[in-house]
Amino acid sequence: MAQDKVNLLNFDRRALEAFFTAQGEKAFRASQIMKWVHQRGVTDFAAMTDLSKALRARLQEQAGVVLPEVIHRQRSRDGTRKWLLRLADGNAVETVFIPESDRSTLCVSSQVGCSLNCSFCSTARQGYNRNLETGEIVAQLWIARQELSREGLVRQATREPAANPDPPSMAREGAGLRLVTNVVLMGMGEPLLNFEAVVRAMRLMMDDHAYGLSRRRVTLSTAGVVPAIDRLRETCDVSLAVSLHAPDDALRDRLVPLNRKYPIAELMAACRRYAAAAPRRRITFEYVMLAGVNDSPAHARRLLALMRTVPSKVNLIPFNPFPGAPYRCSPPPVIDAFREVLVAGGITTVTRKTRGGDIAAACGQLVGEVRDRTRRSLRMAVAGISGP
Ligand code: SAH
Repeated sequence: MAQDKVNLLNFDRRALEAFFTAQGEKAFRASQIMKWVHQRGVTDFAAMTDLSKALRARLQEQAGVVLPEVIHRQRSRDGTRKWLLRLADGNAVETVFIPESDRSTLCVSSQVGCSLNCSFCSTARQGYNRNLETGEIVAQLWIARQELSREGLVRQATREPAANPDPPSMAREGAGLRLVTNVVLMGMGEPLLNFEAVVRAMRLMMDDHAYGLSRRRVTLSTAGVVPAIDRLRETCDVSLAVSLHAPDDALRDRLVPLNRKYPIAELMAACRRYAAAAPRRRITFEYVMLAGVNDSPAHARRLLALMRTVPSKVNLIPFNPFPGAPYRCSPPPVIDAFREVLVAGGITTVTRKTRGGDIAAACGQLVGEVRDRTRRSLRMAVAGISGP
């Protein structure tokens, strides 16, 4: 696509309406295009038969629907899938699909790399490269649905017994929408440090003419960028998850360096405001279980005291190792005992199942193959950064 063409994947409804009205077209062209692109997976304007021939020709000249390229596909024994996507500038990001019995969740990246440097996360090792554009975020959902629906069609064609008796087809209107029921912004990057693009992408995910997900099924996970949590509350109503990982500032400063800027008390206050903005809303707190670091009964009791100050539920995440990781995962009995303290205190607490571990698709294992990755891990090794 020529440089001066606009990528319509970057536009949410508002932006598309502005794009069409600026050229004297009716605003509802936005809904038409959104259905073609996001629901039916069509990127060729010539095929968009409810637009006039003249408009189709004009779009062909001015615009495009540009998608990253899938350069690697992996499928875990447990059905989890990981796609490595190459962006237009040569950078790469990962997207993970997690099927469960009652839902299927897509874990989406928001940045190439990450600037936050959490000590237990492998994305941190590659450093920060850049923010993703709206289109690059939404494309992860577009591509996942396309890939999954193609699998369904292959199953149908080869008459393999399908898990789903009615294999979905994107060609049938709306059918592909059921392939991904939930989206979590828990892939690579800190979504609240890419605010505008992430909000536009989430709006598309929730738009009835695009992916139609409810706000309960779109979850943004943050390490705790306090002012942006407030801004999100005022801008875009989605579910919020907060990566807490420690119940006191001294420990959290070490695990999540962003805590030095926005300490726990301020973070909890922002969470209370966020929870208060919608009826019965609870904040999900993520807590990675690191052996001998943050997993004692005393830590659990301090966490419980914190959780009582916010409408909350807790997700305990078994630490997922990666090469050179300076931690081990807490043993299952330690995780159970930790969980018991919270449950006995009245806090809904689940231990997250590790999915896709055999294809390095589990929490905190995502790394795109960006150029400066090796250099950075080398630097860290030289600096002796190997443990907390
Ligand atoms: N920056 C955002 C979203 C990306 S991380 C955030 O911090 O929430 C998604 C989740 O995976 C976070 O809760 C993160 O702390 C967790 N995580 C990172 N590395 C992990 C690892 N090695 N094992 C288990 N969970 C990890």
